[in-house]
Amino acid sequence: MKFPILTQPGFLHPVPEPRAPALRVATVEGKRLGLFTTRDIDAGEVIFAERALLIVSSVEWCMTFAGNERGAEFRAHAIRDKEAVMKALVKTLPHEKRAAYRALPNVHPRDECGPLWGVARTNGSGIMPLLLAMVVPDMVEHEQLKFLGVCETLSHLNHSCRPNAALHFDLSSFAFMLHAVRSIPAGTEITGSYTDLLAPTAARQAILATFRFQCTCASCVNSETSDRRRRELAKSPALEQAAMLPWLLNKGNLPDDYLTKPSLRALELLRQEGAEASKAYSMHLSQLCLAYAALGDRERYLDARKRSVGLVQGIRPIKIEGFRDMAPAVPEMHPFWRVRMQAGPRSMQDLQAMLKSD
Ligand SMILES: [Zn+2]
Repeated sequence: MKFPILTQPGFLHPVPEPRAPALRVATVEGKRLGLFTTRDIDAGEVIFAERALLIVSSVEWCMTFAGNERGAEFRAHAIRDKEAVMKALVKTLPHEKRAAYRALPNVHPRDECGPLWGVARTNGSGIMPLLLAMVVPDMVEHEQLKFLGVCETLSHLNHSCRPNAALHFDLSSFAFMLHAVRSIPAGTEITGSYTDLLAPTAARQAILATFRFQCTCASCVNSETSDRRRRELAKSPALEQAAMLPWLLNKGNLPDDYLTKPSLRALELLRQEGAEASKAYSMHLSQLCLAYAALGDRERYLDARKRSVGLVQGIRPIKIEGFRDMAPAVPEMHPFWRVRMQAGPRSMQDLQAMLKSD
């Protein structure tokens, strides 16, 4: 899988930089370290980016299986093997980076995993397999391959179920990038999420227990209200394009606000839950853009687009060859501009043709 990554156009891009330094590492509540803003940050801004000290498969393989081990014995063997891999990896680091890696916290006891793998499990950030699949064509064959990267500075990002930032792996610069998902005032702790943001409180707490801490954010404290909002959100996800077709083609007497009403409500709930970092938030903003374009509502389209594009301004998009931009700056250039208002396309094939670029 190395070749398709190394041969991406323009690879290796420089590590993205914030427009001005924005972050410092400091102690939180007198014990663990955390990341803090040193100036006001706008939603979507790059706060910090760095290449990982190391990137490793998150799967615990037993590579030297003797063939007759069972249960705990097999597990102990897998732990030994993983730690041997980690030792070899850490050894490849320059001396000061090796020391930085070893200085990172490890919350896992010795009987659960070795100390070097423990550091990776405690501090590692996942790389989405889907992201890799976009540039590695045979990724499906390697679906067991999941990776995490351990960073020197970004490893100090603490958790909140209402995170004000999100970590993203930028494949073209091979760097982890932290960007704000809403405005953050100077001097605020920057947080990310270690869990599925929209999972119920009990499920989030179960994941966080593996990191040996309990979250006391406003959503966890007011879990009844928070879980109710999450249940409502689960009932009205942003739609797949195929499910939007009857509305786009103006068939079946669906109302004009069929897409905008649920998306506006979902965005409101997500804001109340501080969940702007969730995939649902960006999906509903995309749905709003598409709906306002199809309705020919220039002003609202531009407003939704500004929020949607602003959310990911620091992220270098992976271009999909042969398809038109779904959030152009000029509304009239949108593939579905006023599509619902005119007697143009009548079938799914018509709409698919409109998505293709020349
Ligand atoms: Zn929480």
